[in-house]
Amino acid sequence: MTYKILLLPGDGIGAEVIAEVERVLSWYGKHRGLSFTTETALVGGAALDAEGTPVTDATMKLALESDAVLFGAVGGPKWDGNSFDKKPERALLRLRKDLGLFANLRPAICFDALTDASSLRPEIVAGLDILIVRELTGGVYFGEPKEITTLPNGERRAVDSQVYTTSEIQRIARVAFDLARLRKNQVASAEKSNVMVSGVLWREEVTKVHKAEYADVQLSHILADNCAMQLVRNPKQFDVIVTDNLFGDMLSDEAAQAAGSIGMLPSASLGAKDANGKQKALYEPVHGSAPDIAGKGLANPLACILSLAMCLRYSFARVNDAVLLEKAVEKVLNDGLRTGDIMQPGKTKVGTKAMGDAVLAALDALPNEAAGDTRSI
Ligand code: NAD
Repeated sequence: MTYKILLLPGDGIGAEVIAEVERVLSWYGKHRGLSFTTETALVGGAALDAEGTPVTDATMKLALESDAVLFGAVGGPKWDGNSFDKKPERALLRLRKDLGLFANLRPAICFDALTDASSLRPEIVAGLDILIVRELTGGVYFGEPKEITTLPNGERRAVDSQVYTTSEIQRIARVAFDLARLRKNQVASAEKSNVMVSGVLWREEVTKVHKAEYADVQLSHILADNCAMQLVRNPKQFDVIVTDNLFGDMLSDEAAQAAGSIGMLPSASLGAKDANGKQKALYEPVHGSAPDIAGKGLANPLACILSLAMCLRYSFARVNDAVLLEKAVEKVLNDGLRTGDIMQPGKTKVGTKAMGDAVLAALDALPNEAAGDTRSI
């Protein structure tokens, strides 16, 4: 199978980190028999400047035809004053919407070598490996009515609506349960069923799906505010957390902090499976375009490289290859190499390309197990 990959480097450090991902991809082509073609297109501010829109229809067509989109980052001060529809970030919103990417996966993994980088005590985060599954296309960010009106007494009134349907809840629950089966088989479902009717429906529908299809997975329900507290008290109690768009936005950032630098955090956004079991997917680092360090060769490429590991696991069903890449990243960190964002006393400071070189060298050095584990969600 030859995979079609669309590379969207975007702005700022996006291009720098995607360049390292391209080198890692080539390594997999050469050494692990990964067969793929790549296309590269402009997105974000770069597309606005050259093509007049954050993402063109032609680029969207490429994205829709691809097996996976690898996205860098968009945005920067140059476009900050743009009107809403001419903001670089519109590209990401359109990609999510048109590809139907309803499930956002954010792992929070704390590498042993980086336990000191977390704001939590090392013993709380050492060995941390949790996955937040956030519903991405529904909830309060999209619900109608969504408006600011002026009342007869002259006061202004703002409304955002939290809206979920059973099918929206059930499909994200299935993603979480499927993923849990590949991990420690535990799902915590977070909502506010004590004060929100959408939370009541969420809890009922997750329970229904669990009972009917995933009774082998351990399910617990937790109120989202308690979940936030538990994430800083004892994050290792969790395996997979499934939650809505708003709570997922907050909880995934909170969990990220436990893992240390933003330069280390990958993410995946997945769509529904088609009749052949294939699903649209976009992989991107959590960080933005970092204008303060853009063009200086200082960016940490590991978040983007770990996003490629997620792509190998979820889009290409190459679990062993994903593990190999994660081990290569771990080896580089254990060997003491650090970009500025994760620098610690006594370690060796390197730039973007040298970090990419080190990952490639680690891939060469690590024992390779057979490729082709076909598990996927
Ligand atoms: P940012 O993530 O770009 O940067 C925050 C801080 O972290 C900066 O000091 C930056 O230097 C540092 N940093 C980020 N990634 C790093 C990396 N890989 N290596 C080393 N250091 C890193 O967030 P911001 O400054 O709030 O936003 C900058 C621009 O990026 C804005 O235009 C924003 O809208 C955009 N943005 C885009 C995305 C996206 O494309 N998905 C996400 C967030 C922000």
